[in-house]
Order: sequence, then C-alpha cells, then structure tokens
Amino acid sequence: MNFSDLGLSPEILQAIQKANYEHPYPIQMEAIPAILQKRDVLGLAQTGSGKTASYILPILQWLQKKEVNTSRSVSVLVIVPTRELAAQVADVIKIFSQHLPRRVKSAAVFGGVSINPQMMKLNGTDILVATPGRLLDLVSKNAISISEISTLVLDEADKVLNLGFKEEVDEILSRLPKKRQNILFSATMEDSVELLVNKLLHNPLKIEIKPEEITPDLISQTAYLVSQERKGPLLRHLIEDGNWHQVLVFTSSIRAAENLTAKLNKNGIQAMAFHGDKSQGSRTESLKQFKGGTLRVLVATDLAARGIDIQSLPYVVNFELPRSPKDYIHRIGRTGRAGQEGNAISLITEEDRHHWKVIQKKMKRWVELVDSENLEL
Ligand code: AMP
Repeated sequence: MNFSDLGLSPEILQAIQKANYEHPYPIQMEAIPAILQKRDVLGLAQTGSGKTASYILPILQWLQKKEVNTSRSVSVLVIVPTRELAAQVADVIKIFSQHLPRRVKSAAVFGGVSINPQMMKLNGTDILVATPGRLLDLVSKNAISISEISTLVLDEADKVLNLGFKEEVDEILSRLPKKRQNILFSATMEDSVELLVNKLLHNPLKIEIKPEEITPDLISQTAYLVSQERKGPLLRHLIEDGNWHQVLVFTSSIRAAENLTAKLNKNGIQAMAFHGDKSQGSRTESLKQFKGGTLRVLVATDLAARGIDIQSLPYVVNFELPRSPKDYIHRIGRTGRAGQEGNAISLITEEDRHHWKVIQKKMKRWVELVDSENLEL
C-alpha cells in the first residue's frame, strides 16, 4: 500500500515524499483514512509504531481547508505527558507543514520553564501540543482558548494518567466543546485508560499495534555473557574498540545510571545521565548534546527514556536488562528507526539467564549469546 491510497491530498503527499517516508506503517494505513473521515480513533500503540504521523498528517490536511487563524482559539489540541514528547510532536508537525500552501501554526507548551515567553507566541495557533498542567495555566490566563477545538488528541494516555494528571485531564475535558473528534493513543489498556476511553470516544475505530510487530528487522541484536564486575570494562571496550560515537545505555535505576556515568567519565568516555531525578534543564541539555552528536554516551533509565526519538541512533546497550519484555522491545526500538540500521547489545550475567530467555521467548527471536570471558578487557 502507498500513502496515495489513503485519501491524502497532493500537498500532503508531497510533504511525505520530502520526509522520505516510502510506505505507510500499519497504524498509518488504518488511522489516516479514519481520521480524515473525522472518526474517533483508539490507537493501542507506542512510540516506534509511527503513531505521530498517523494523526498529524490527516489533521494537517484538514487544516488546509480552514481559514488562517488570527485568534487565540486553537482548532486542534494534542495532550502529551512530557516535555520531550511535546517537542517531538511539534517537530513532526513542522516537518510536514513546511511546504503546505496554507500556513499551519503550531506551538508546544509544557511546564518547568517560564510561562511568559510561551504566552507571547500563542496567538493564531492552529495546533497546540501541551502537557496538562501548563495547558490549564495558559487557559486560566486567557492566553489560549480551547472551547472551540475540532479535534482532541490524547497521546500516551496511559503515561498521562500514570504521571498523576487525571484531575487536570478531567478539567481540560470539561472546557472542551461537546461536539468534537477524539483520538486517543495508549501503549497499554489499564483500567484508568479504559475508563477514559469509555468517557471520551464515540464508536471509535480501534487499532492495535503489538510491540513485537514493530520490532524492526533492521536491528541487529547481540548479547554478551559477562560477570557483574566486568560489565563496566566490557562496555568501555565495546565503545572504544568499536569506535562508537553515539550510544544510549540503559540501567535499571537512577543510582546505577549515576554510577555508570561517573565511571565512564573517569575513564575518559564522555557521558551524561538522563533520568527522572534530573532537572528539566539538565534533561534538555543532555538530550540536545546527544542528538547533536557532541555527547558520546547517554545513560538513561526506562522512565526517562520512554518517548525519546533520536533519528538514526546506531547503538543501544542494555547495561542491565529491564524487568519486562515489553520494556526490552521498547528500549531496543530506540535504534533501527526510520529505515536505518541499528545495533542492540545486552549485557547478561549468569543470574540474568533465565529472565533473558523469557524476554527472547516473548520477542519470538533468539539472540546469539557471546561469552565474553576470554575477551581481554
Ligand atoms: P513514532 O511512533 O510516531 O514516534 O514514529 C517512530 C519513527 O518512525 C519516527 O522516527 C518517524 O519519523 C518514523 N516514521 C513514521 N512513519 C514512517 C514511515 N511511514 N516511513 C518511515 N519512517 C516513518
């Protein structure tokens, strides 16, 4: 199937071509026609599935028919859990709206930074991407109006709720017009999400993309059997010997991330830690340096790394295995994106062996286990 089979306009197809998307991903094949028809959509999918473009493309198309906005009233509201996702969604909007005949104005707003500069640039916004708390602040200050939106998108709804934003979401919903299109994405369908789905969506098209369906074949996976003590030296050996310049390393705790970061730096390998205890400023800075190629290693925990989208990231290392197979797939999905080849390397101790087996079984893929004992580190 091609993008041209989905009911998209020539202008949008041109933008897709410019972005080098050759074929639609499964979620896009289903979501795009439905969203164009203004249907409600429930997408059970996570990052890596192509969910962002699946709603941004039809929304941009629909906006082409609308008069240019000069008011504070937005047409499309995208609610996201984190600043990182807000920035990513805003990037996708920018990429696809660059060459469209009707100018589409989008803005991303989130907490943790001063509100005034955000307030100043909101007039005439068509698509507002926002975290819940900051959105309510802006609405209460009359910087923006959400009472006339046509489409609501709730992206990563499970995470929005898990971060404790339920009250804010309820408050936001109470301020929206009754008649509107609702689109909800969630990686999981826990009870709280189901309640929200039932409240929000009317006769939605349900699309489910299982994580294993998006394990890209482009990822080459390797595992090293290694003792706990030799993990650090092995990682340094891999990075230096392989001449790796951009490596995302996962640890299972904030403390482990901090320790590993310190050790790498002590050994002359530039690294920064990225986790929930870091300030917003520090997270932005390390991500910026990492994406820009000036930081060699980013050491992250699962919580913070969800949703990080780095184009063409070549190496992901599981310094420690995640607890769930789902998280494993999610972690390695940070590489091998957008048609680029990627490498996922896992360091496995004797104690991990059973858990590693479970992960591979769930993933339906067996990964070669290399004994690192004879490696000179
Ligand atoms: P998402 O799940 O929205 O975070 O998207 C995952 C990644 O896939 C992003 O890096 C997108 O740029 C990329 N992507 C999305 N759709 C396509 C497509 N049809 N072809 C190629 N790359 C895509």
